[in-house]
Amino acid sequence: MTEKMKQEEGFEFQAEIKKLLNILSHSLYTHKEVFLRELISNASDALTKMKFSSLTNTDYEGKDIPFEINIDGDKEKKTLTITDTGIGMTKDEIIQNVGTIAKSGSLEFITNLSEQAKKDSNIIGQFGVGFYSVFMVADEVRIRTKSHKKGEPAYEWHSDGTGKYFLNPIEKENRGTEIIVHLKDEEKEYTEKTRIESIIKKYSNFVSFPIMVCGERANQITAIWKEPKKEIKEEQYNEFYKFISNTEDTPLFHLHTSAEAPIQFSSILYCPSTNYETYGFKKLEHGVHLYSNKILIQSDCKLLLPEYLRFIHGVVDSSDIPLNISRETFQDNRIIHKMKSVLVKQVLTLLQDMAKNEKEKYETFWRQFGRILKEGVHFDFENKDTLAQLMRFNSSMCKSPDELLSLKEYIDRMKPDQKEIYYITAVNRETMEKSPYLEIFRKKDIEVLYLTDPNDEFLLSGLHEFEKKPIRSADQANLDLLKDSDKKIVDTTEEPQNYEESFKHLLKTIKVTLADRTIDVKESNRLVDSPCCLVNPDGVPSVHVQKLIQMVDTNYKISKKIMEINRKHRMIQNLARMNETPSYQPLIEKIVNQLFENALMQDGVVYNPTSMAPRLNELLEELTKATLGEAKRIIV
Ligand code: ADP
Ligand code: MG
Repeated sequence: MTEKMKQEEGFEFQAEIKKLLNILSHSLYTHKEVFLRELISNASDALTKMKFSSLTNTDYEGKDIPFEINIDGDKEKKTLTITDTGIGMTKDEIIQNVGTIAKSGSLEFITNLSEQAKKDSNIIGQFGVGFYSVFMVADEVRIRTKSHKKGEPAYEWHSDGTGKYFLNPIEKENRGTEIIVHLKDEEKEYTEKTRIESIIKKYSNFVSFPIMVCGERANQITAIWKEPKKEIKEEQYNEFYKFISNTEDTPLFHLHTSAEAPIQFSSILYCPSTNYETYGFKKLEHGVHLYSNKILIQSDCKLLLPEYLRFIHGVVDSSDIPLNISRETFQDNRIIHKMKSVLVKQVLTLLQDMAKNEKEKYETFWRQFGRILKEGVHFDFENKDTLAQLMRFNSSMCKSPDELLSLKEYIDRMKPDQKEIYYITAVNRETMEKSPYLEIFRKKDIEVLYLTDPNDEFLLSGLHEFEKKPIRSADQANLDLLKDSDKKIVDTTEEPQNYEESFKHLLKTIKVTLADRTIDVKESNRLVDSPCCLVNPDGVPSVHVQKLIQMVDTNYKISKKIMEINRKHRMIQNLARMNETPSYQPLIEKIVNQLFENALMQDGVVYNPTSMAPRLNELLEELTKATLGEAKRIIV
């Protein structure tokens, strides 16, 4: 004992380390439990180094001892001991590695860290600071270590994490390092086996060396993402998926890749089979966990994939990511941004291949996650084209509401002289099929995409065009397909005598009547069965989109439209005749307003029900009178 006291050497911590200890416990880590992750990570690093070194140097300490980590808690003594059979440290190495912050520039950085808001995570990661996190829970720490180098004496380092640390030579049988953490009174929980095990499950489950807690193996699963693909069976992928996603589901597909340049990383991404977002309103959380050399850095990391791929689960492991990265500094991390862009490309390529080679599977995917994937068209400019190719729609030419087609397929079956891609938006297929806008398309046998998801039109209007073909809403005023159809679809043979004149006159009357409610009133060249419809001038979004805008901005007013009148419609012809008699004007006015509001209703807009109901009643009264012959003059 006296001999040992004599040999004990005391060292003063650098002032910066004291500061660092302070910063570490207050800002870098939100959960104190991560100290165990850091210690296990160091043990794992030491074992990895030992393994590596043993490949070339066969002459090292303790050749027969297994590569493993042992963790034991002692409730009575309030200690937690982490033992590894790794590379160990010599006296100089302890002073160098644990006593100082090795990298130049780091000291200065740490000094400024609190002011500078810790923006640059790269610098944070460049100096070793993980070990010090143990002082968040410890009032004393002992490191007992013996180097793998033959003949080096073992040493014990101890400190209370304030001003000083001490070094003593000791007797130690095995190669490797033992960290004895003397826990603060309020941190006793870390001596409990179940607590330790749960931390391991959370952060260190995929460490590739056995972690024994009180003699029992605590980490079950190997880091399968680091294994060669061909050695992993489908069941293993599925097991791992269940583990990370906490479900009993079988994934729809998985994607296992590794990249070397520009960044080294391995990943396994999974697509679930069900989109739980459709079951409720809650948005799915990101489910990709970030690892650095098998140590969990952050679970459910939001920055690895864009919002529109939030349904993907998985792991990404990159040794280029520093362990000590804090949440705040993630945002600015270059490596993470690069990985994100590679991962997105990988997922989109897989989906493209699937769409091409496994049509049914892709459609299953699309039905579940299409609505989320589509969001990307708006937000991911870089991959907009790919995303557009991945979109699927139902259309007027589909035999069933379940059939799907891509924009490419639409183009492939376009009419030879068709220059534009057309879509129509409504709440359901039935409404669209009855829509007056569709009449001309049906007549000309031109396909129209059916959009029922309120966001679809936003997306398509955001795309503007696909393969150089403009994408147009069927309710626009100047569609290319209307150009040549002027009078051609209008068969004037059965028209009443002198109709040309009286129709023109009627248009005028309608225009005056609806002066405040429309931009213009015109003869239609798109209607077949309906008396009238409302179309949008170029550049104005469809009513559907306008209604979405209105939900966000209550002051927004749905813009006025152009009213188109079908000159062949029997009712219009009757109206034109009535219009020649001045005494019918009040009735005509009511009918015109009602026609206008009917057209609005077909667009899903109800302007003013309080004025419509009395008007309808008045019109019904006229109708009953006419039916009873009191006003035969009305019905021609
Ligand atoms: P980092 O792990 O980022 O280097 P740490 O503060 O966690 O930073 O550890 C500092 C250094 O201490 C390590 O780089 C390593 O050299 C040494 N060290 C820590 N724990 C061990 C251990 N269990 N075995 C061997 N060396 C260790
Ligand atoms: Mg470390």
